[in-house]
Amino acid sequence: FISAESLCKSYGSGDGKNDVLKNVDISLEKGHIGVILGPSGSGKSTLMNMIGGVDRVDSGSIIVDNDNVAGFDDDALTEYRRKNVGFIFQFYNLVPNLTVSENIEVCANISDSPLRLNEILSIVGLEDKKNRFPRELSGGEQQRVAVARAIVKNPKLLLCDEPTGALDFETSRDVLSLLQKINREFGTTILMITHNIAIGDMAHVVYKLRSGEITEVIRNDEIIPAERIEW
Ligand code: ATP
Ligand code: MG
Repeated sequence: FISAESLCKSYGSGDGKNDVLKNVDISLEKGHIGVILGPSGSGKSTLMNMIGGVDRVDSGSIIVDNDNVAGFDDDALTEYRRKNVGFIFQFYNLVPNLTVSENIEVCANISDSPLRLNEILSIVGLEDKKNRFPRELSGGEQQRVAVARAIVKNPKLLLCDEPTGALDFETSRDVLSLLQKINREFGTTILMITHNIAIGDMAHVVYKLRSGEITEVIRNDEIIPAERIEW
């Protein structure tokens, strides 16, 4: 479903040239959960941004559902991102002066939506808080809104960049369970950057990235037990 091959990306030029991705290969099957692990600065977010069509690779191919995203022109890339990709970030990135419902609707073609909005609110467990503003929610609840916003368009691919990085252990577990539920119910393929050990039980494949290179792939046809992963 996703297969990225020989991805290279550098920033800067000359002496200041920084090779952030060096021939990175990753693949993820449809409906699977993949995890990228690696130290700060290893290129994790850069890799996600390439796959999500937020930024462009210097070379290599990114095949998503038979299309080479790396070869798209700007319009095709925007279209791909809009239709197919949901993003979730560490700090939620909600619009502060919009309510929960409005934050979710802002990202969707909501014409057909009253029912769907309620459905989504129920999936993320926020029916009773739909008229609140982000500042009136806990961190975990805000991240649930971000999850709802990302799935309202039913994306093929959900990209999560440290979705539990700002949350405590218990709340993190809840958010990860919610993502797993979405993966199971909708078959959404999820690629996630996380250091949260709880993901060990949920991931189908784990890639370790170090200085822009994949150093280890832990793959399992079923689900990888947490104890097999060295965090
Ligand atoms: P962290 O765990 O801290 O989020 P990361 O693995 O996500 O780290 P990236 O954000 O992918 O790391 O950054 C990898 C390298 O690329 C870093 O050295 C960073 O400074 C550099 N970098 C990222 N984006 C840019 C940019 N737009 N311009 C220049 N350099 C960049
Ligand atoms: Mg990052």
